[in-house]
Amino acid sequence: MVIDLQRGDIHPVPMELLELIERQRTNAIDIVVHDNERIGYGVINRQDHIDYILKTEVGTVVPIAFLRYRKAMSFEWDYPGKIVDGVIEVTASNIDFLNAMVSKLCDFGLRHLHFLIPDCTCIIIEKLLNSMDSTAINKYYATIATHIEREHVTKMFESDGRLGQVEIVSDFCEDGIVGMRRLFDHSPRRINMIVNVKHYCEGLRFNSAFNRRVWVSEVMRYSWGRPDGPGYESLEELIMNDTNEIAQIIKDKVDICKDCEFRRVCYDTRKPIVRSGGGWYHASECNYNPYICKWSDEEGYRTLAECGVVSNAEGFSIDHDRIAAINAELWGE
Ligand code: SF4
Repeated sequence: MVIDLQRGDIHPVPMELLELIERQRTNAIDIVVHDNERIGYGVINRQDHIDYILKTEVGTVVPIAFLRYRKAMSFEWDYPGKIVDGVIEVTASNIDFLNAMVSKLCDFGLRHLHFLIPDCTCIIIEKLLNSMDSTAINKYYATIATHIEREHVTKMFESDGRLGQVEIVSDFCEDGIVGMRRLFDHSPRRINMIVNVKHYCEGLRFNSAFNRRVWVSEVMRYSWGRPDGPGYESLEELIMNDTNEIAQIIKDKVDICKDCEFRRVCYDTRKPIVRSGGGWYHASECNYNPYICKWSDEEGYRTLAECGVVSNAEGFSIDHDRIAAINAELWGE
């Protein structure tokens, strides 16, 4: 069955198409045809397959060139879970509770998980893999701040196909978890733009970087979005007592971002700070300056300060004349 939650429609999937639809990675017509060939169906008239997709609006069949503008087909793109993403700080003291933590998060809808492991050992890797066995996670990633042998990383990938990426960040060895948390506190770069309809719509109502994301600290305290929230002892307590306030601070409320054309699609993990006189600001500048349409690595880039834009605890002001003069110099009249 394909259940269309928005319209309340239910579409039975014909048995002869079921396997094709399950295997389908995308709605790009070239790939649909290629996949059918590859898995041995030949190019046999798959028009019925394409017709079904179009009729039920399971998707739209697009030329492959359009793929980069659309998210690949996924059966969880509008998944109704309370939580979708999670970050767990894994240490020797909480590893034995990992399976219980992940299972509980999964009960509330978690599907993507990122592990931060400041002090990684073979035992931690083994226990981590074991505790993932019975969970409903779709994809997980690990960031490790300890030197580990290549064979252990290989073993991790061999043990579980859901492991998407392992990053080893030796720079943060001394800082431990504090340094690792900084990895999640950065202004966006071009690659952090997520351009698809779902992300755009989410950005209209929420701050996408924090929406439906739970952070579990090394002492097993749960908070929304970031590690610096109040922190609750259990997930139930978090959900019962705390609304995800940081996710409500949409980009339209934050200085600079509210003037930026990327505000619906960027993924900015910096913490918005409230100003006592009203309004929100960030403590550090973004890599993109929307007033001159330049990224920091582009020729002609100027910082916000150089453009006469001030955003801090005292207030927000823009020197329009200076910006006009810089734009005239950069882009002409
Ligand atoms: S200035 Fe633009 S790119 Fe930078 S964080 Fe704000 S919305 Fe995103």
